[in-house]
Amino acid sequence: MAIWQCVKQCGACCHLDPKYRPDLHEYLNPDELELYFSMVGADGWCMNYDHDTRECRIYSDRPRFCRVEPDVFEDMYSINSEDLNDFAIECCQQQIEGVYGDRSLEMLRFNQTIGYIAKL
Ligand code: SF4
Ligand code: SF4
Repeated sequence: MAIWQCVKQCGACCHLDPKYRPDLHEYLNPDELELYFSMVGADGWCMNYDHDTRECRIYSDRPRFCRVEPDVFEDMYSINSEDLNDFAIECCQQQIEGVYGDRSLEMLRFNQTIGYIAKL
């Protein structure tokens, strides 16, 4: 069974361009929405994302909506802890596909690291 984990040097979910996330208002409260929009840079990437190191510059202080944690996912998406693993895997794969492509090195690394075997 594939076990979700964040794979280093990915950063796909830090591409915040709201154009690709039309449902933001469904899971962010007004304060979070404001914070989210304030973080979007001109290129659509989060301004806290360091493209050289491919890491978050404010990792330990990152907003709640950046955290893959059971209480956050339950609150934002009504996902219970048993479904969190599969849901998080799907979210990452969708995000990686949108940003880097479904045959990208990032996708390959993600799937290999979590032990995901694609269904044919
Ligand atoms: S898309 Fe997933 S693996 Fe990539 S940085 Fe975000 S949480 Fe980590
Ligand atoms: S705050 Fe950090 S983790 Fe959140 S989107 Fe920005 S760079 Fe990514």
